[in-house]
Amino acid sequence: MITVLKFGGTSVGTAEAFLRSAKIIASDDGGRVVVVSAMTGVTNRLVQLLDTGNAGVDEVVTFLVEKHMSVAKELISGKLLKSFTAEFNERMDTLRSLLTTGAYDDPCFKDNISSQGERFSSLMLAYVLRSIGRESVALTSEEAGIYATGDPGLGTADLRMTAEGMRTSVRPLLLRNIVPVITGFYGRSSDGKPLTFGRGGSDYSAAVVANCLDADCLEIWTDVDGFMSADPRMVPEAIMIEEMNFGEAAELAYFGAKVLHPRTVEPVRMKHIPLKVKNSFKPENQGTLIHHLRARKNELLRCVAMKADLSIITISSSEIAYRPRMVARIIDKIADAGVTVYAISTSLSTVALLINNPDVKITLKHLNILAPDDIERIEVKSNMAMICAVGDDLLQRCGASAEIFGAVHEAGANVELISEGASEVSLNFVVPSSMALDVIRTLHRKFVK
Ligand code: ADP
Ligand code: ASP
Ligand code: MG
Repeated sequence: MITVLKFGGTSVGTAEAFLRSAKIIASDDGGRVVVVSAMTGVTNRLVQLLDTGNAGVDEVVTFLVEKHMSVAKELISGKLLKSFTAEFNERMDTLRSLLTTGAYDDPCFKDNISSQGERFSSLMLAYVLRSIGRESVALTSEEAGIYATGDPGLGTADLRMTAEGMRTSVRPLLLRNIVPVITGFYGRSSDGKPLTFGRGGSDYSAAVVANCLDADCLEIWTDVDGFMSADPRMVPEAIMIEEMNFGEAAELAYFGAKVLHPRTVEPVRMKHIPLKVKNSFKPENQGTLIHHLRARKNELLRCVAMKADLSIITISSSEIAYRPRMVARIIDKIADAGVTVYAISTSLSTVALLINNPDVKITLKHLNILAPDDIERIEVKSNMAMICAVGDDLLQRCGASAEIFGAVHEAGANVELISEGASEVSLNFVVPSSMALDVIRTLHRKFVK
């Protein structure tokens, strides 16, 4: 039996949290493989430094040393502390020299630096496990054999090569009942450089590890009780969802439920590996089970999520609907720009696309390449939010949309774009960002039981 356990930043944010997480790992003698994020605040600090140039290198290094060494001194004892300190210093020296000599505008360098926090947290967690009597080894993604392809910040794991890599790195450790603690967030590119999976990407790393080891279960340990009916930071009365299916969890993660990185579900779904979301601060709680099937419930909505910072781009061109090649060219230009489209809606003479706010500039640049006579007008509406509402048979229930849009009206929001029927499990629509929180709260209050 192999269980992959992933611990997020807050689950290794303090000495107390490290110890609690180590005890969760050590509570079972079976095959355990751990994937860990950087300590909370560390990745943000590294990303900030990248944005401002190398002026604050000394401050960042001091911050990292203090943050990690204070935990180490509290939790790791005697000889182990000595060897931890030696390994930690070696890693810190490498980081310091990278930070002082690196090319700050190189995207590969950015991926290298932003993923450094995981190298420290994984080393620490392996040593804490050893200190409480469970044999453990820290592995970087390079050592574990996690291979990735794609652009910096947007990596995708190569599952075939990773399975092969882990056959020689991780499996032998499992046979000896040693717990590998692997860095989350990044893989190794074809030229050996760190390639990150996007912010929050350690969940995806863990799903990839579970897939490649044919694990029996993936456990995502975080700071809330499970997958909740809404982000508890927005809706304090959100309730824990006991059971979800893969499709629901994937849609919600894609449309803003930050509890899972949007790409976490697919690698485990492919191999029918159940995924649990659990609270590392309250390990006795049941958490959420995400798998293929689930019992049906009767409430209209089970969960609402939102994705903010979006823009609607509307392209007007006469009778565009009768010129399919024109629509194809527009989509082609957006693809050339490498931009993700969250929803598309068409009418006789317009195509409306929903994209991230920061992608507007590059999208317009690419659309402007189209012949000016082909396009009458391009309009941009910024600061929009997509609401994703998930419920059982939502699309088959007569009157469900009317009820939902009635509640949106009650919240005083105007619906700017609707995407209904594209997914079997959700109803998605766009409102101005300034109204999104009210809409989420109203929907939750009225329809989530
Ligand atoms: P970790 O560091 O463990 O990866 P994250 O901060 O990435 O944790 O994700 C957990 C957070 O996700 C929660 O603290 C919560 O605010 C947020 N969140 C958003 N939507 C949901 C949801 N539907 N259920 C649970 N948490 C959610
Ligand atoms: N440490 C990375 C981040 O903050 C990855 C993760 O936590 O999942 O984005
Ligand atoms: Mg996360």
